[in-house]
This record gives sequence, C-alpha cells and structure tokens, in this order.
Amino acid sequence: MAPFFAERFGNASSMHAQGVQARAAVDEARAQVARLIGATPDEIVFTSGGTEGDNLALSGTGAPGCHVITSAIEHHAILDTLRWSETAGARVTRIRPDRSGRVDPADVRAALTPATRLISIMMANNETGVLQPVEEIGRIAAEADVAFHIDAVQAAGKVPIDVRRIRCDALTLSGHKMHGPQGVGALFIRSGTQVRPILHGGSQERGRRAGTENLAAIVGFGVAAAHAVEWLAEGRARGLEALRDRLEAGIRAAVPAVQVNGADAPRVPNTSNISFDGIAGRALVVALDDAGVCVSTGSACSSGSAEPPHVLLAMGLLPIQAHSAIRLSLGKRTTADQIDFVLSRLPEAVGRLREMSPLWTNRH
Ligand code: PLP
Repeated sequence: MAPFFAERFGNASSMHAQGVQARAAVDEARAQVARLIGATPDEIVFTSGGTEGDNLALSGTGAPGCHVITSAIEHHAILDTLRWSETAGARVTRIRPDRSGRVDPADVRAALTPATRLISIMMANNETGVLQPVEEIGRIAAEADVAFHIDAVQAAGKVPIDVRRIRCDALTLSGHKMHGPQGVGALFIRSGTQVRPILHGGSQERGRRAGTENLAAIVGFGVAAAHAVEWLAEGRARGLEALRDRLEAGIRAAVPAVQVNGADAPRVPNTSNISFDGIAGRALVVALDDAGVCVSTGSACSSGSAEPPHVLLAMGLLPIQAHSAIRLSLGKRTTADQIDFVLSRLPEAVGRLREMSPLWTNRH
C-alpha cells in the first residue's frame, strides 16, 4: 500500500498517466477480490467497509409493505438498518437460531410471504463463528424468486465462498476481517441485480457508489484477498482450526464450569466464544488484557454496551450466561506458543475473578 500513499496516488477516474496507473491498480484489486468469491470483477463494488456494504445491499428495503427476512443474530449493520427500514414502512421477520446458533432453513421458508422482497442471512456469525446454511437458504430464495443477501464479513478468507453455488444476489465483504486494511470493503452485486445507490454524486463504481476510490486501501484489500485465496488453496484452515481446538481443549481441561457457545455447529476456524460461570466477561477481558492477552466480549462494535450480547440471548442463553462470555479470535499468524501463553494465564485469571464473585462463591 505504501507506494500508493506516497507516489502513485493518482485519481483512478483521471485520464492522465497517474490516473491510468491508479485505475489499473483498482482493476487488479477488483479482480483479486472477485476471485476470492467466484464472482466477475464487474460484480464487485468497493465500499468503505462491511457496514456500508450491508447498508447498500439493504437500500431497497424501506418501501411500505416490503417484507424482509433476516435472523436475530445478524450484526448491527444489518439489524439497525432494517430497524430503520421498518420506520419507513417495511416489515421484517427476524428468525431465531437454535441452541447451537444455527438458523433453520425451514424457518426461512415458513416466513416467506408474497410480499417478501429480500432474505438477508449472514454466512458466519461474528460472536460465535457459527456457519449458517446459506446454500440451502439460497435454494429457497431462488425457488421463491426472492433476492438473497449474505453478510460474509466474518467468513471471507476463512472458508471457501462461491457466489454461484450459493446462488446469492449480493454478498458483503470487509477488508480488515481478512488481514486487509480497515475502512475498505466490497459488495458483490450479481450482474443484472438492481441495488439503489446510497451515496450519490460521481459515477464511480459504474454508478453504484459515488466518491473517489480509496486507492491504497483498495490495493491492500486486493492483496489480502489474493493471499486468502492461496491460504485456502493450501488447506491452511485446518491448521488454524487445530489451534482453536487446542485452545478450547486446554481451557476445558483447566477451568471448571465453562461452555463453548456454538461448539455443536460448524464454525469458521478462528473463533471461540466461551462462557465462564460466575464471572462477568467484561471483567475477564480486563484481567486478560493485564496479562497481555487481547480478547473481547461480543462484537467489538458493541463492546461499550452494558447489554448482554444479542446473539447469545437469541441462542437461548440466560442473560447471566451471556454476560459471562468472551470471544477469543485467532489470526492466520497465531502460533501454538501463543495459544500456550493464553493457557498459562487464563485459568488463573478466571480463578481470581471467581474468588471475588458472590455469584460463584454462593454457588460452590
Ligand atoms: N458484519 C459483520 C458480520 C461484522 O462482523 C462486521 C464487523 O465486525 C461488520 C459487518 C461491519 O464491518 P466494518 O467494520 O468493516 O464496517
């Protein structure tokens, strides 16, 4: 990305040589991102990230009487946008997952009405990593002739994605969830699918997203996508999954009364959501931070909130169990030594918090 900040910062819409070079770099990134999900480059619209991609995908859903089906475990970029659509007259059905965190395609089918215009279901949940049955939902959407959008922000680069197989009409990606930079993402829009622009102005991105392209970020995102394609082709996801399993097994062995949320469902290889009876997840985040381990409660976007994570509540956890959860996320560079480091710190941190917790001491 560095040369595109310092030397090669032409405007990709300009006709001079610098502009032409910038256009070539954007085109290359577009092809790299398209390849990751089996799309064609002209089906990729660069955005400022996952939130914008989700908003753009849902932009046609505000009309009175329009019915949208989604799940209760979506990211707030979907849930809050659809809440806004409701104020403009839309009707929204939010499907609850089962206890393992998976949405049942039969529930999606049952929610269809003649007014249904869109189904929007995520591919991997951001708190539990649970993978949703998007291929089956894609079939249901195609049979009913209803548009299907997928928020694939947490899945892209970690599991293979083929938009043709899934038969989706739109799919959201975000750079920073796959080792790319923050503030850039993309929306796949199937060729022939109409999406109403939410940013108006220039005719960039073939009139689908106005504004001068964020050149360096787009280049970085493209490279991240190309790396992800290689990483997946080399079967490296298995190694990451083995590290995640080692972490979970180590925690279960050393700490009593823990529950791995979503462990009964297929998951992306890097995410682990664990409830620790008797303590507050927020307190454990602070204790682990002091010990040199960065984890979070729920999603980073809602971490300022005192509410228990909506995803865990929708899965049927009690508020107290949902409050006691933390999310541990591995990266592609995480090593076995780092996992062992966490295992050397976490049990002690949980033990100390439990000693101070009336919730725990009254129980045991
Ligand atoms: N969708 C999901 C599932 C996410 O996890 C996130 C971010 O955490 C987003 C959307 C928003 O993406 P961004 O942070 O790029 O706006």
